Amino acid sequence: MGMNRRDFLKLSAGSGLLLASDVSPSFAATPHLPPNAVGILYDATLCIGCKSCMVNCKKYNSVEGGAVYQKDGTIPYEHITPNRIYDAPADLSSKTLNIIKTYKSGTGVNKDSETDGYSFVKMHCLHCIEPACASVCPVGALRKSSHDGVVSYDSKKCIGCRYCQIACPFGIPKFEWENATPSIVKCQLCHHRFKDNGYSACCEFCPTGASIFGKVVDLREEAKRRLTLTPGTYYDYPLQTVGSSATMPTKVTPYYDHVYGLEEAGGTQYLLMAGVSFDKLGFNPNITSQAYPELTWDYIVKIPWLIGALVVAGAVSHLVTRDKSEK
Ligand code: SF4
Ligand code: SF4
Ligand code: SF4
Repeated sequence: MGMNRRDFLKLSAGSGLLLASDVSPSFAATPHLPPNAVGILYDATLCIGCKSCMVNCKKYNSVEGGAVYQKDGTIPYEHITPNRIYDAPADLSSKTLNIIKTYKSGTGVNKDSETDGYSFVKMHCLHCIEPACASVCPVGALRKSSHDGVVSYDSKKCIGCRYCQIACPFGIPKFEWENATPSIVKCQLCHHRFKDNGYSACCEFCPTGASIFGKVVDLREEAKRRLTLTPGTYYDYPLQTVGSSATMPTKVTPYYDHVYGLEEAGGTQYLLMAGVSFDKLGFNPNITSQAYPELTWDYIVKIPWLIGALVVAGAVSHLVTRDKSEK
């Protein structure tokens, strides 16, 4: 006999594991792109690998440590203590919500080329239109906003089961193993800055327009327009936001003929463009246009021992650590 999501939730609630839960599968409420959905367009052909986006992500999300490159003090950010040593993080972690990585082939001298070339790629939560992470979260700690589509996290609800880590097709959510009261950590698009007309810090402090913020419908149009540009000509690339009057005329580099995120995993609010194919940039070529929530749930319910182990371990661990921290 199979077990569906409802059965699982009843079972979990009946066993007392979801006592403080607000059980509501958030993906069901927003199956399509919300009308005011916001996101980011990253264009690797404009990226110079300066990592200003990483520095300012840490600054505005208060995740210092385990981070930021820079040994020689060449980036004068006021929050960087002059004599402090910073390391380059190798990947996303509980301290790094946004990372710039580098692809290289052969001699690695030609920017945005697969032949003897290299390319940068910026990785963080893609804010899926149908987020698998939120769909499997048994307590509604991860939610997709029906207004702007941001997938946000509430540590007060989280029981630490780490389903979201298993479910995310992009390997984004990280767990604070180092913390006595661990939380899940991932990019939330700097949504805490929206109320003051702010937006994602990685876009605000990107000097070349490689990362721009805006409404997803506008970002999609901008991305599609870029695919029609003639290589070698100049285009006024907007800085910071998609509708910005501040632009930087830049010579157009040949694009790989695809905008990542238009379709992948049912579509995402983070879109990417590059001069090389996305499998070279570390994206799993097996990710299709099919949305993941039901896929993931079907997979997870086939291994009930995992469900039981994760939920029990997560709930107990969470209660123990929370009790300790409250003493
Ligand atoms: S990329 Fe992963 S963590 Fe981000 S919304 Fe999609 S499923 Fe959730
Ligand atoms: S660890 Fe579990 S409870 Fe916490 S956000 Fe992830 S799926 Fe939800
Ligand atoms: S700030 Fe902009 S140019 Fe610099 S690494 Fe980040 S995306 Fe690339």
